[in-house]
Amino acid sequence: MKRRLLKIIEYPHPTLRHKSKPLRRVDAELRDMIRKMFELMYEARGVGLAANQVDLPLRLFIVNLEAEPGRGDEMVFINPVVSRPKGQVEMEEGCLSLPGLYAKVRRPERIHITAYGMSGQEIEAELEGMLARVVQHELDHLDGILFTDRLSEASKLEVRPELEEFEEQFLSRRERREIPADEQIAARLSEIEFRYC
Ligand code: ZN
Repeated sequence: MKRRLLKIIEYPHPTLRHKSKPLRRVDAELRDMIRKMFELMYEARGVGLAANQVDLPLRLFIVNLEAEPGRGDEMVFINPVVSRPKGQVEMEEGCLSLPGLYAKVRRPERIHITAYGMSGQEIEAELEGMLARVVQHELDHLDGILFTDRLSEASKLEVRPELEEFEEQFLSRRERREIPADEQIAARLSEIEFRYC
């Protein structure tokens, strides 16, 4: 299989609305792609990145709260399941697939997570604070949900013009053939799912 060139895709790319299926295998190519995801996340100064943000239909995301290589914990969550939400807190969020857009989102304050790490080890933890926030944002990506879907009606109206700008840019990139047609994107996603899911 040819080496895939990964890059971060932006709203409203259809893969951001793709609901990923659980992974069945982790191979050398996938480990390579995860390494590349960390590089892309650091370049963009992000703290979390989900696989479908690099156009991969896989149920995994990465996190490093320090947003810098060589600092903080590099975490990989494969097939994550979140449960037992507690409390509610409002925090400002941004997203590498919606660069420059920030808004406050209400989410549970604490959660329980189970997942697998890159070498197959089981992860189980109670999360709170920034890590709980990032994990919930990234998990949403895997279900095709963007943080702008979770805004209050008033903030949704506020960010509408910015979203429209992203939509216009996307259309013109497509006209320049920088972004493939929906059918081609879907065909590529099924090919990768066939291999990994
Ligand atoms: Zn995001």
